[in-house]
Amino acid sequence: MKTAIITGVTGQDGAYLSLLLLNKGYTVIGLTRSYNSINSFGLEYLKVRDKILLEECDLTDISQIIKILKKYNPIEVYNLSAQSSVSNSFNQPIGTVQYNIISVLNQLEAIKLVDKTIKFYQASSSEMYGMVNQLPITEESVLHPLSPYAISKAAAHWLCVNYRESYGLFICCGILFNHESYLRSDNFFLKKIIKQAINIKMGRQKELKVGNIDIKRDFGYAPKYVEAMYLMMQHELASDYLICSGKSRTLRSIIEKVFAYLDISFDKIVIDPRLYRPTDIEDIYGSNLKAKQTLNWDYDGDFELILEGLINEERKNTL
Ligand code: NAP
Repeated sequence: MKTAIITGVTGQDGAYLSLLLLNKGYTVIGLTRSYNSINSFGLEYLKVRDKILLEECDLTDISQIIKILKKYNPIEVYNLSAQSSVSNSFNQPIGTVQYNIISVLNQLEAIKLVDKTIKFYQASSSEMYGMVNQLPITEESVLHPLSPYAISKAAAHWLCVNYRESYGLFICCGILFNHESYLRSDNFFLKKIIKQAINIKMGRQKELKVGNIDIKRDFGYAPKYVEAMYLMMQHELASDYLICSGKSRTLRSIIEKVFAYLDISFDKIVIDPRLYRPTDIEDIYGSNLKAKQTLNWDYDGDFELILEGLINEERKNTL
């Protein structure tokens, strides 16, 4: 029997990865901070809520992690839990840095103590590259993080590399660029834009307030990106991989596409300087060559089609 643990199972990626691993015949143990106030919307939407075992676990307490590892003997741990918002990290820098680093260090130490054969996946982020001096980003590019979130992810990333090199643990870091789905939290760019545009269309909202929309990002589709997480954990050698579409586009062009699709006038877009971040990445996109060649990960996500699919799914589910 194959057992996998997924931390942050209630998040977007946690729900899609649960579905994928269940389909591969795994027993899935999903960890959440709080069983009582659990937000299981994504797990219910994908109809996996009752097929996985949910456990409460505070990843800042190593004794709780050790107990879970001993109880379930997993072959793989996928660490998706994090304070995952760049914007929030500017308001909560200490909490973000503490949680996103210590939760990872505790899991690495627990695996080292309990069973060194357990494979570990870390959700690293393209935000780690920050101040970009060469595009496309590759696995060899220099890290220059520009937010507390990015700094926490960079530190966690290097802890993973260090535990792999120092103790021979099987650890893969998936360095993922922005990836979206209907299950994305409301406070992230694409979900926010689509939801608010539908509200404007339905007369529930007058305008869309946005910050700097001339920055460019590399967007992809979450259900396809979690496949890459699984594939890297099955490869015989543990390594780090960029998971991205390979193209960037301005946030402005995306908003205009959403508005055009819904037939909304562009004059409803209002730039609010209060929504600007203290520092931001101008343009970023990566090369997915290593993942495609080494893992046979196939990704040719047509962003326009993904966008239309997400707008239609959101409309269908909006009352
Ligand atoms: P998400 O939807 O925000 O989910 C993150 C999960 O982490 C939550 O469901 C939450 O579950 C848990 N969590 C634990 N401590 C938290 C805290 N202090 N604040 C907020 N949440 C906390 O994230 P996702 O989009 O699925 O992303 C999965 C992982 O990939 C994250 O580590 C993220 O940083 C990373 N990543 C995401 C992207 C992207 O574009 N989506 C890109 C690069 C990297 P409980 O409350 O149930 O514990």
